[in-house]
Amino acid sequence: MNTESLLSWLIGIAILLAFLIPYIRGMKKREARTRLRLAETQATGQDKPLMQHPILNQSVCIGCGICVASCPEGDVLGLINGKATIIHGSHCVGHGLCAENCPVGAIEIGLGDISHREDIPKLSENFESNISGIYIIGELSGLALIRNAIEHGIKAIDHIHQHIGNAGDCEFDVGIVGAGPAGLSAALHARELGLRYVVIDQDNPGGTILQYPRRKLTLVQPVRLPLFGELNKLEYTKEELLDIWQEVIEKHKINLRTHHKLLGVDKNNGCFILKTSGNDILVKKVILSLGRRGTPRKLGVPGEEMGKVMYKLMDAETYRDKKILVVGGGDSAIEAAIGLAGQPGNQVTISYRKPHFFRLKARNETNIERAINEKKLTVLFNSNVKEIRSDKVVLEQDGKCIELDNDFVFIFAGGELPFPLLNSIGIAFGKKIETRE
Ligand SMILES: Cc1cc2nc3c(=O)[nH]c(=O)nc-3n(C[C@H](O)[C@H](O)[C@H](O)COP(=O)(O)OP(=O)(O)OC[C@H]3O[C@@H](n4cnc5c(N)ncnc54)[C@H](O)[C@@H]3O)c2cc1C
Repeated sequence: MNTESLLSWLIGIAILLAFLIPYIRGMKKREARTRLRLAETQATGQDKPLMQHPILNQSVCIGCGICVASCPEGDVLGLINGKATIIHGSHCVGHGLCAENCPVGAIEIGLGDISHREDIPKLSENFESNISGIYIIGELSGLALIRNAIEHGIKAIDHIHQHIGNAGDCEFDVGIVGAGPAGLSAALHARELGLRYVVIDQDNPGGTILQYPRRKLTLVQPVRLPLFGELNKLEYTKEELLDIWQEVIEKHKINLRTHHKLLGVDKNNGCFILKTSGNDILVKKVILSLGRRGTPRKLGVPGEEMGKVMYKLMDAETYRDKKILVVGGGDSAIEAAIGLAGQPGNQVTISYRKPHFFRLKARNETNIERAINEKKLTVLFNSNVKEIRSDKVVLEQDGKCIELDNDFVFIFAGGELPFPLLNSIGIAFGKKIETRE
């Protein structure tokens, strides 16, 4: 080899390394971040998917990362050792774009083996549970997505309509619990078919959509909403969807009882008795469309019913120059407190019943330490809320009573999942249902 060609080789290799080294370094950094995130989600059990999710064939995966980039929910998948891996499974809502976009067909969407899962009810193809006359639809059945929820509602009502017979002394043919997309679709279809129905919800109508961040873009696969027509735009904002629900509820005078929580189901004289936080309701058939996000846990202190007390933070920017108490020490409480403390004029105090925070995401741990050191907020460890008044909160810390001026209280005390309620009703779990993607 002469000197000229050796030089060209060396220049070629140098150019290659100039691109390759930063690329490999970047890849290693990204992988280290992904491993850290996986360790965090594993520590809190959030790595496990709750509903339909990507099932990855790692021997086929070529590690191109297209699946990671195509997930609209962000951090569900990541690359570890050059292979797609589930990192934050509980954030998966089953869009399936990862499977659609995978160039080598290494991803399927499904529920996997559910034979040992105690959170997927055993259902017939019409969504009837092991208790004849009680149906379970929507996300509670194990399948997420708005289109699935709407279709479940229609299918369950069709089955009830065909088998209703004589409703006897029951007040309603069907009692629908939960007014998210599944329950609302069932109520609309029941109205369409002339069934006597009632729909109750512990909150306002809308279900999980109410909890989405402001203006969140929601992907909806085309589906017919009874008494409304096709939802055929591929993307809606949260607000557009909630406007549609409100429009159909008002136009068709849907028999909806909000702020009625289901506490239990009994049976008497051929009717189910829906035991609610309001009155008991006698129905011939029951549809449970409770979702699986649970009910925020309350503190049970005087004054908690006031409008200034909230269990979620939708938009920190709407709070300025306010005195705010955040109750709780988990990631949601810390994220809310930091968001609120970052707005002009807010005075934020965190009340946490334990002596220190633990099991926080690494990022939240760093941020809260910084916020405390920079005196952006105050933390009262070992403290409990005793009373909420219109302009104050009363706390107890180490046996001492503390009164703080207050405009708003945000409570993040975890949630009660719907499964104990299903257990008390006698619902069986853990067998494959017919799925549709
Ligand atoms: C962040 C996020 C983003 C998402 N994005 C999309 C998306 O882009 N596209 C999409 O198709 N899907 C998306 N989903 C999933 C979709 O929101 C759900 O699959 C869908 O809302 C499920 O509908 P549902 O009616 O089964 O349950 P939910 O919407 O959860 O409604 C359940 C209702 O039951 C009520 N309830 C619960 N317990 C009781 C009780 N004991 N008594 C009375 N009422 C009760 C609740 O208050 C609630 O109103 C997303 C989910 C999340 C969390």
